[in-house]
Amino acid sequence: MSAKKETLQFKTEVQQLLNLIINSLYSNKDIFLRELISNASDAIDKLRFQAQTEPELLGDDTEFKIKITPDGIKQTIEISDNGIGMTYNEVMENIGTIAKSGTAAFLEAMSASQQQNTLTPELIGQFGVGFYSSFIVADKVSLLTRSAGEDKATLWESHGDGSYTIEESTKRSRGTTITLYLKKKEKDEADYTEEWTIRRIVKEHSDFVSYPIVMDVEKDEPIPDAEQLLDKEGKPVGKTTRKVMREETLNSMKAIWVKDKKDVTKEEYEEFYKHLSHDWNPPLTQLHMKLEGVTEYHALLYIPSQVPFDLFNPEHKHGIHLYCKRVFIMDDCEDLMPEYFRFVKGVVDASDLNLNVSREILQQDKLVRNIRKNLVKKLIELLDNMDKDTYEKFYKEFGAILKIGIHTDSENRDKIARLARYQTTKSDGKLISLSEYVANMKAEQKDIYYITGENMTSLLNSPHLERLKEKDFEVLLMADPIDEWVVQSLTEFEGKSFKSAEKGDLDIDKVDDSKKEEFNALFGFIKSRLESKIKEVIPSTRLKDSASCLSGNTYDMSAYMEKILRSTGQKAPEVKRVLELNMEHPLVIKIKAIYDKDRDNPVLPDYSDLLYDMAVVSEGGKLDNPSRFTKMVGDLMAGALNV
Ligand code: ADP
Repeated sequence: MSAKKETLQFKTEVQQLLNLIINSLYSNKDIFLRELISNASDAIDKLRFQAQTEPELLGDDTEFKIKITPDGIKQTIEISDNGIGMTYNEVMENIGTIAKSGTAAFLEAMSASQQQNTLTPELIGQFGVGFYSSFIVADKVSLLTRSAGEDKATLWESHGDGSYTIEESTKRSRGTTITLYLKKKEKDEADYTEEWTIRRIVKEHSDFVSYPIVMDVEKDEPIPDAEQLLDKEGKPVGKTTRKVMREETLNSMKAIWVKDKKDVTKEEYEEFYKHLSHDWNPPLTQLHMKLEGVTEYHALLYIPSQVPFDLFNPEHKHGIHLYCKRVFIMDDCEDLMPEYFRFVKGVVDASDLNLNVSREILQQDKLVRNIRKNLVKKLIELLDNMDKDTYEKFYKEFGAILKIGIHTDSENRDKIARLARYQTTKSDGKLISLSEYVANMKAEQKDIYYITGENMTSLLNSPHLERLKEKDFEVLLMADPIDEWVVQSLTEFEGKSFKSAEKGDLDIDKVDDSKKEEFNALFGFIKSRLESKIKEVIPSTRLKDSASCLSGNTYDMSAYMEKILRSTGQKAPEVKRVLELNMEHPLVIKIKAIYDKDRDNPVLPDYSDLLYDMAVVSEGGKLDNPSRFTKMVGDLMAGALNV
């Protein structure tokens, strides 16, 4: 902690963000107020939550509110709250840096958009500009804050031009006051110090905020008789009213989640979503429900239109807010949503909750478990009934997360599996459901075929699929890492088993035993040459056009799974794969001819290596010794070219 004033530089990305915000949101200036009010409301929420276990934090300052104080002469507007406030270190951590990690992703997205010179609202929405939106309207911002339970305050100031100052200061009471020194306004622009402008913005963007947003407004009040000057006849002299300043609450605080669906407009739903989620983009859809009966609750849940860039950051916040009879209990209530719905935002208001509930107790709370079960059911129904276009948008963003549920939620496994979509060898880039797959199965086809891997193009062209394609059997192309867990958990769908195209027997063709006999000696030779890399050499029933491929036994780990585990630093058991050779392929036939004539021909070991390397390359794998491979191919080409 430092007592003297320090001047610090913004992190480069903050300055970049600031410039972008100022340049891209000039036609959206009003929203700075919504952002600051949302932060203030969150700060009060946080304090109330903490005060459940530390009531002394509140002292006698228990009337929560957010106050707006404009000053037309100085051209300033002040937004203050009596929420949790920040310590010196918290100011350092939260303001002037981009506290959220995922900055790399942010910068990438930003530099991509810079090519178009402006940040699109969709993009900016992902980063929730929050506090920094002050600089859309202000050329100087000061933030004075005192953390609940502390005596000292902190003053942060900046002109938004690359640096800020921070110093220890004093403040009469707990909370945060933000003062905006407004930029000179252009003609036709709103004056943010004007009462009616402020009223309008609060009504439009922050009406449902659950704390009073107050402002001192001038009122005409009758002068009390006792103070009234009277003439001889006892009649009042001069004015009977006078102008006084009175605090007025600007927002209705009407909790929209307890309203009837038909009384809430689309705009209201969207504004409330923005307030809750700190996401600037409208949500994809919402689920507004009321349950009466043994468990009584209201819920208003939203599905965002985009994956927040920091969804997988452990600090990611703004999930489900829990209320009890309209009184806020906590934000980010993880116990109400399973991991695979972690992107859902919203409010749950349950009448029978224990108000002094702590996060730990909550987990075991039967009521909470019931609500969660019900919300999951309703969300699945919502997705199931969504129109095709909306569902496709949803799935593109959240499909990979949703599929986690197939692995983790055995109770809802089948229902979530119905929501999964895949590209297939026949779908022409489109996504289809598993039910559609099953409906399209050939009469003689027993199983659901799939292949997993990283890259759609290499999956689509994988040699493993040659015979399946010839038979006109469709194959699911699974390119999300989670799919490896999906196929492990989901052993069957609508009575059909899943079968990997790269493992075990495909059950489509029988090997010609007499032919196999002929190749036995050659395969034995190749196996001994490649002993360290493979466990077997077998005639392939998968291949048609390619000479070789690698496969596994039914219960072996797939190549992709092994890669995923290694890339996340986990130990994957070293599983040797099976080299499959195509007995119909001219190359294999010719090698056999050489072998039958002269088992010691020096090309044989090299060709064995090449057959293996080709199999590795064709599934997008990495060769141990790529330069040896290219040299061998180069020599072969030189030999073949008789110019
Ligand atoms: P966001 O609100 O999306 O997290 P902001 O940049 O608006 O991002 O704010 C960054 C952080 O600063 C907040 O997460 C919060 O911890 C802190 N903060 C902002 N405003 C206030 C406030 N009025 N009172 C207390 N803390 C605040």
